[in-house]
Amino acid sequence: SDVGSQKDRVVTEEEWLQKWEMGNIGFHKEQRHPLLQKYLDVLLNGRSGLRIFFPLCGKAVEMKWLADMGHSVVGVEISEQAVKEFFSEHSLPYCEEPVPEISGAKMFQSTSGNISLYCCSIYDLSSSIIGKFDGVWDRGALVAVNPCDRQRYASLMINLVEKNSSYLLVTVSYDPNKHKGPPFYVPESEIKSLFG
Ligand code: SAH
Repeated sequence: SDVGSQKDRVVTEEEWLQKWEMGNIGFHKEQRHPLLQKYLDVLLNGRSGLRIFFPLCGKAVEMKWLADMGHSVVGVEISEQAVKEFFSEHSLPYCEEPVPEISGAKMFQSTSGNISLYCCSIYDLSSSIIGKFDGVWDRGALVAVNPCDRQRYASLMINLVEKNSSYLLVTVSYDPNKHKGPPFYVPESEIKSLFG
């Protein structure tokens, strides 16, 4: 498949912040994603009290859902507005603290302690800062990453998961010559070469 037309496209962090400021966030859904509901058993695999990671989390409502089930949720999001909207829209009290290892980064944590959202670029994180995860919900994340950063993103994600983890990935299938993205088209063959 020809993804040549998207290969050099770059959406800057500034552009993402602007989307949030302008309310240009068509990717955000108020309803839980039907595929997470469908494959929840695959993600959990009979386990409870998991650490679940939401890369490029926005204000995904599924974070609250999984936390309410007793899991511990960690997200990363470049937009502080998105993070604050998440907590306020769910009426969750939170506290805010700096992340010593990353200059300028902040961590927002629900007072109950089971939702921690890092406000920084995902590329600033590593398992030594946020630990490793039993599960990943990757929706609007790999497909939002600039095509030139995909390899780096995938290597980081591999570093962030435990051996016995489940990784749910949502992609979109369409003709990349007809839309510029994001979401970008990531062919199955590329997913195989990125994640093995
Ligand atoms: N996964 C979410 C949001 C998808 S949109 C959902 O399902 O609704 C992609 C999000 O990634 C945007 O909110 C954008 O602000 C954020 N983002 C983009 N680049 C990022 C980066 N390098 N690090 C962290 N967040 C980033």
